[in-house]
Amino acid sequence: MSRFWSPFVNDLVPYVPGEQPKLDNLIKLNTNENPYGPSPRVVEAIRAQLDDSLRLYPAPNADQLKDTIASYYGVTAAEVFVGNGSDEVLAHIFHALFQHGKPVLMPDISYSFYPVYCGLYGIEAQTLPLAEDFSIRPADYRGENGGIIFPNPNAPTGMLMPLAGIEQILQANPDSVVVVDEAYIDFGGETAIALVNRYPNLLVTQTLSKSRSLAGLRVGLAVGHADLIEALERVKNSFNSYPLDRLAIVGAVAAFEDQAYFQQTCQAVINSRDALSQGLQERGFQVLPSAANFVLARHGERDADELAAGLRAQKVIVRHFRAPRIEQFLRITVGTPEQNQALLRALDALL
Ligand SMILES: *Cc1c(COP(=O)(O)O)cnc(C)c1O
Repeated sequence: MSRFWSPFVNDLVPYVPGEQPKLDNLIKLNTNENPYGPSPRVVEAIRAQLDDSLRLYPAPNADQLKDTIASYYGVTAAEVFVGNGSDEVLAHIFHALFQHGKPVLMPDISYSFYPVYCGLYGIEAQTLPLAEDFSIRPADYRGENGGIIFPNPNAPTGMLMPLAGIEQILQANPDSVVVVDEAYIDFGGETAIALVNRYPNLLVTQTLSKSRSLAGLRVGLAVGHADLIEALERVKNSFNSYPLDRLAIVGAVAAFEDQAYFQQTCQAVINSRDALSQGLQERGFQVLPSAANFVLARHGERDADELAAGLRAQKVIVRHFRAPRIEQFLRITVGTPEQNQALLRALDALL
């Protein structure tokens, strides 16, 4: 608290990201980064951009990237928004589309940044409990609201909602913006972008951080009706004209152009996830069915906090949320087969 602060800053409860430890030799399975590097063509494109042109501002609307994404998904560039990571895109969404003086609906177990944005923009968050099996119940998302948001697959459960469930929510809420946060959709789900043309209230966000291995580059996007995108552009252009730098724009374009590498690495993560889930089950864990690059798993007898500490002592870092209903679960990012083996060996030493 300081007398220099704008008063609202006193009440902010900021998001706490998973730690980025400086120690070497750690097996880092705590922040859902991709264990494989980005496409070599991304690295090449960024290298080729490293020249005197860095003295110039980047294209304020990142048109080259918007065109690339538009043709990738079969939409128009006017239906595409890009930002400095999908976290920034989400912040603009809460700011531009969710401030209606009514609560925004979201699952009780979900991405913990959503309530933080609510706090920042003075929006009431109304959480709706997941079902007993940790799935989202589409029928619960109805009634007066200022907007709806959920990840699909959900985080940190990893569970996927079929498109029929999303359509049910869209149809029950024609007067609200429904945001589907598809941070993990490429690991086995089907994107809702195909529904954008039929539902002017649908906004889909994605990130290059997970499936395209570019968490360090900071690129996220949203696809939706041009009216929704225009609201985001108005807020963005009242905040920062150049959220994507020249390196991020060419790197992101190259990532979408190297489809073969993308498919190969996503498939490797999917295969590795299935093997990891099986290895955990063999060791007495209940593993929620995951369509993401992480699994949420609970051991039948051992305390999650102790397991996380025991893994850490063996240099394996996983995420443990001390939150109601999931405090006995560990969220484990899918690593390479070698990293997963190291995790399972470290668990064997504890169990
Ligand atoms: C990782 C993640 C994001 C943010 O991704 P960035 O593009 O790196 O900001 C958004 N939503 C969910 C559910 C995530 O897990």
